[in-house]
Amino acid sequence: MTLKKITIAIDGHSSTGKSTMAKALAKRIGYAYVDTGAMYRAVTLFALRNKLIRRGKVDEPALKEHLKRGDIAITFRPTKEGKSVTVLNGKNVERYIRSMRVSNVVSIIAAIGFVRKAMVKQQQAMGKDKGLVMDGRDIGTVVFPDAEMKVFATASAEVRAQRRFDELRAKGDTTTTFDEVLANVTERDRIDSTRKESPLRQADDAVVLDNSHMTLEEQDEWLYNLYLARAKN
Ligand code: C5P
Repeated sequence: MTLKKITIAIDGHSSTGKSTMAKALAKRIGYAYVDTGAMYRAVTLFALRNKLIRRGKVDEPALKEHLKRGDIAITFRPTKEGKSVTVLNGKNVERYIRSMRVSNVVSIIAAIGFVRKAMVKQQQAMGKDKGLVMDGRDIGTVVFPDAEMKVFATASAEVRAQRRFDELRAKGDTTTTFDEVLANVTERDRIDSTRKESPLRQADDAVVLDNSHMTLEEQDEWLYNLYLARAKN
């Protein structure tokens, strides 16, 4: 059986484990992996550090100017352990972009049209040769509408909040409460699904993956089998 090189788009709600599943699949099939949420998070971190967000309001002209000048360079760097970290202007920002401080405002930044335009352009350049797994909110609808494999991941809000909560605790955050995480997950879904620019929605040709009651192993097999079906010549 010969397999062709394809593009794999994984979209869905917040904290459905998209990155985990996308990473595992990419590793198994030898594809590159791109976490587009990390890119929006890095822009958000830049905006916070430069005081471009005040009381939930973004200084859009200033942010636009920074993007235009190329002040916000986002790349990914592989680590010795075989992981990939997000790099903002030459510095590893992985730890900072996953904080609640960033999570609380990232959806506001990601709703801005010119921010999306700049990110989508970079994402399309990364995927021009296929052979990659990209996860986000608009990959199957906007970034790669012709992707051969599209997955729309979802799970109940409580299950998702619990996963994110456990992750924060494991990383040493002892103050954020479960209710705060649940509120953040639901609020991000609301903003992502109702925004004007590329709202989160299931592409017509996407396959839904509800992983509320699935083990990681079951999920990995499900994805791998879908990949085999789509990549078969
Ligand atoms: O995937 P993650 O939860 O890290 O993404 C953070 C935020 O970035 C999302 O809540 C969403 O607002 C935004 N995002 C987006 N489009 C993408 C990826 C992420 O709008 N392709």
